[in-house]
Amino acid sequence: MPETKDNLKKRISYLIDFAIFEQECKTGNPYTAEYVQLAFDISKKINYRVPQSIHLKVCKYCYAIRTAGNTKARVVTETKNHKKVKYLKLHCLECNNIKKIKV
Ligand SMILES: [Zn+2]
Repeated sequence: MPETKDNLKKRISYLIDFAIFEQECKTGNPYTAEYVQLAFDISKKINYRVPQSIHLKVCKYCYAIRTAGNTKARVVTETKNHKKVKYLKLHCLECNNIKKIKV
């Protein structure tokens, strides 16, 4: 498979989906965080912004896969230019970093 930018984008989503599958099926694979790290490394190499749907699934700081046990999710409203804007705050309990996503 030639390493074009489109193929590498596909590989990023495959790696994330495979890591989530391995963790959900409890196959005992110890390399799930490494797959996520590899996906983020590829995105930096090809200068590609990882889509929000992937940020909902994994933490970009500690490469952990988000589950109900290690994530705290809150919806907050903030006023910006006299308009109310809703944000989803995802608090990773493993590295204490917060990712804010516009809803
Ligand atoms: Zn984290």
